Amino acid sequence: MRVGLFGGTFNPVHIGHIKASLDIKKEYSFDRVYIIPAAIPPHKKPVGIADASHRLEMTRIAFDTYPDFSVSDVELKRNGPSYTIDTVKQFMLEMGDHTELYFIIGIDAFLEIDTWESYRNIFDMLPLIVMTRPGKWHNSGMSDVEAVERYLINEISDKYEFSSSEQCCVHKKKQPVFISEVTPFDISATEIRKCIKEGKEIRDFVPAEVDAYIKKKGLYL
Ligand code: ATP
Repeated sequence: MRVGLFGGTFNPVHIGHIKASLDIKKEYSFDRVYIIPAAIPPHKKPVGIADASHRLEMTRIAFDTYPDFSVSDVELKRNGPSYTIDTVKQFMLEMGDHTELYFIIGIDAFLEIDTWESYRNIFDMLPLIVMTRPGKWHNSGMSDVEAVERYLINEISDKYEFSSSEQCCVHKKKQPVFISEVTPFDISATEIRKCIKEGKEIRDFVPAEVDAYIKKKGLYL
């Protein structure tokens, strides 16, 4: 079985998350993708973050119609901050050796991974899939592939190199890092929260049911 793990704050979940993860599921022939909202994002300021139960519910509503997607509350059930390394360990333990696990992450989050708990160990444990995203996330002049390769060399190990035959960054002792161009959808949760504060409509950015949930609960006002 091939499984993708896609973590995030999902504050709120939006169409960018849905489209990108659908693309990844198809490209990597995953049997299942787990969407994993973080309980207490350790590297984000907790200002303006909706209660975890709301973010979990919105994520469930958003992915409800996609049969091969599950929303996981593992990070919400654990005490303390949500560390990806703990989540990966938990999935590995529960799913066993017959499951190939991959970690899915957007390029903006990837390029800050050195702020995560035990981040170097993640690269020993499972392959990563870095998704492209509209916006400027790194120095001009570099392609996304170059930026990911440079970052890996600087922050993780200088033995990483891009393999054009395998279309990923490879390392003799560490897991590969794939870079995937997903359908661009230029939206962020920050932009959505800003729209809500300004009284603007968000119906183009989130599923209708998520829009209705946000309005009903009066979130992000
Ligand atoms: P915020 O604006 O609050 O930082 P966000 O829109 O980046 O939120 P997150 O919940 O932080 O949403 O994102 C979870 C993961 O999804 C991250 O790895 C992020 O890079 C990725 N992601 C978010 N939006 C997109 C998008 N439009 N296209 C591709 N990846 C995305």
